Amino acid sequence: MTRAAQVAALSAGAVGAIGPTAPAGPIAEEDWTAALSAVRDLPADPDILLVCHVNPDGDALGSMLGCGLGLVRAGLPVRATFPAPFELTPPFDQLPGSELLVDPATAPAAPDLLVCFDAASAARLGELADRLDTAGTSIVVDHHASNTRFGTIHLVDPRAAATSVVVEELLRRLGVPLDQQIAECLYVALSTDTGSFKFDLTTPAVHELAARLLATGLRPAEISRRLFDSRPFGAMKLYGDVLARATFEADAAAGRGLVWSFATLADLERHGQPRHVLEGLIDAVRVAEEADVACVLKQAGAEEWTVSLRSKGGVDVAAVAVGLGGGGHRLAAGFTADGTLDEVMSVIRGALDQP
Ligand code: AMP
Ligand code: MN
Ligand code: MN
Repeated sequence: MTRAAQVAALSAGAVGAIGPTAPAGPIAEEDWTAALSAVRDLPADPDILLVCHVNPDGDALGSMLGCGLGLVRAGLPVRATFPAPFELTPPFDQLPGSELLVDPATAPAAPDLLVCFDAASAARLGELADRLDTAGTSIVVDHHASNTRFGTIHLVDPRAAATSVVVEELLRRLGVPLDQQIAECLYVALSTDTGSFKFDLTTPAVHELAARLLATGLRPAEISRRLFDSRPFGAMKLYGDVLARATFEADAAAGRGLVWSFATLADLERHGQPRHVLEGLIDAVRVAEEADVACVLKQAGAEEWTVSLRSKGGVDVAAVAVGLGGGGHRLAAGFTADGTLDEVMSVIRGALDQP
């Protein structure tokens, strides 16, 4: 969304007014039945395409590749992809199942079956969203409350801690046993979206699923270090710069407090770092206990920013992000914005101040 549109949405009171569209509650039995039939009734030698959201995170890639490996074990030919930029960056470049990945430019134009993972809306599929019109059947597998139900069959559970929770049930219902490779994908997804089993939706069922995954022989210490506790020395120094310039605004977010910082393209260049090292920045900033809301702006172009928002509970940052053209979960959301740093920050301050 352009800054003008974001400002217009703000003044029209749209921020916060856009509510969840997925029904709250578990996935209906008829949706499971429809999904199982869609997989079982495929023609001989089918084209099956799996896609996940742009700039995929651990849940998007882990859910997609875990499901892809499961379908391969069931004897189905599977290709998987995600929208440009089509780059697999650390820590996700070592995921099992990456041999299923094909460039989005060569992905089948009209697959018999399309399965979408961890995408709340068609826009999150970028240039691959056109496959929703050409596919025989499309199954949407997701856990965002804001999911717009853009496919033909919807396996969407907003109470699931990760999309991989839904994938594991799908594989179970298909009769595909978990093996260590599938489990590693699903574990990466689950531990990413629960922040290492720390966030709100970390239920007993989540730990039971983690136990089933670990029972395949996974090395959790190795996976966690790769996901959360490892970055290049230059990135560590860059984090130092970003933390040193963080700002705390006690009155922001209607008095709940805001801590925010930013990373520029010049920061990346100065420290010789690729962009993906910025993914964990929000976790370093959101620790400030005085602020309910944390925000990190990551420069993507001269006047373009990728924004991460987090709340400790007082603010529905998904509503804020949806109002500004993005999406996410109640306590973790994001969007992209055009404008200078000051311009984007004033839009964010305005959106956070709305009741
Ligand atoms: P991030 O801050 O990038 O870790 O994203 C936090 C959450 O917000 C994730 O669940 C994302 O799926 C969601 N999100 C981030 N950016 C966007 C966007 N531009 N549009 C929709 N959802 C987003
Ligand atoms: Mn995701
Ligand atoms: Mn997710």
